[in-house]
Amino acid sequence: MVKILWGIILLAFFLIILAIVIKPAKNEALVNNQPVPVPSFSPLTSSFSLIPSNSPKPVVPVHSGRQAHIPILLYHYIGGNPNPDDSARDNLSVSPEKFDEQMGYLSQNGYDPITLDTMVAGLRGIASLPSKPVVITFDDGYVDLYINAFGILRKYGFRAVAFIPTGLIGTKYYASWEQLSEMQASGLLSFESHSVSHANLPSLTKDRLVSELAESKKTLEARFGVPINFIAYPNGISSEQVQEAVKTAGYIGGIGTWFSTTQSEGTIYNMPRIKIPGGLSLLDFAKRL
Ligand SMILES: [Zn+2]
Repeated sequence: MVKILWGIILLAFFLIILAIVIKPAKNEALVNNQPVPVPSFSPLTSSFSLIPSNSPKPVVPVHSGRQAHIPILLYHYIGGNPNPDDSARDNLSVSPEKFDEQMGYLSQNGYDPITLDTMVAGLRGIASLPSKPVVITFDDGYVDLYINAFGILRKYGFRAVAFIPTGLIGTKYYASWEQLSEMQASGLLSFESHSVSHANLPSLTKDRLVSELAESKKTLEARFGVPINFIAYPNGISSEQVQEAVKTAGYIGGIGTWFSTTQSEGTIYNMPRIKIPGGLSLLDFAKRL
């Protein structure tokens, strides 16, 4: 009887050990079953070289040609963080009170918010720029753009530009197409591309890159009936190849996230922006302009 008991205990022990050993192997198999994107490069297209997908050629922006002092402000969320899983969001969230205070500062100090079309026309010498131009931009089209920022922009009569990942609109945390249409109809908000899926553009195959650029442009143009001339690179990341493809897709300019308050003809496909983090004091906000 005792022998049988010992036998059962040993068997249970053996099974537990077996389960522990097998578990990681199963997980590994699951990971290996995930579809791995295989880059496909056309040998006929010289601008797409065989760069490994995880190491895009870094672009070092250099100002050249005509230049002007035009800070492009970059906001993400205007409001608290409703998604506890998104810790990166805290730093990207500016409270409506702070945003109101910052817009008030711009208003009282003679800043004139302009569109990107006006900015580029000014740089090319075919439009005159105001004496203190600024561009207010929002990335990602989150619903708090409509709920919180829109009313504050209306209060000051400020124009702003929002970059939209077209495939994410209407999903959780994002604005709906109806909300975007209402903002566009006000004449204050204009919308530009932020790709379809918020993809890391330099890591894409050529076909996928072309489709992210073309589809988002086409969708926004069909929705709003205006030419979509600009794209903000998701996470500010581009490469020479991406910028070339953006040009080919018919965009007039591309927007990055490197720091400078100067805009120039030479950086039209990688414009710098000023990130506005959540905890910025008004004094530091003013210093960044
Ligand atoms: Zn983004």
